Amino acid sequence: MNNKANMSIGCCVESCKHHCSDRDYCTLDSIMVGTHECSPSKSECTDCQSFARK
Ligand code: SF4
Repeated sequence: MNNKANMSIGCCVESCKHHCSDRDYCTLDSIMVGTHECSPSKSECTDCQSFARK
């Protein structure tokens, strides 16, 4: 379990292996955010592309 929370990257996706187990932060130094839409118009259109399943 990795607990090196990066306080600059808040995240609540607990099923990601990069999620800090006890707080809502990512443990990576940086992430890549992208989109699955050709013309994103709201937050739901964006994705963390650094996600990796636990
Ligand atoms: S890689 Fe993305 S989805 Fe995974 S914990 Fe970090 S910010 Fe969240």
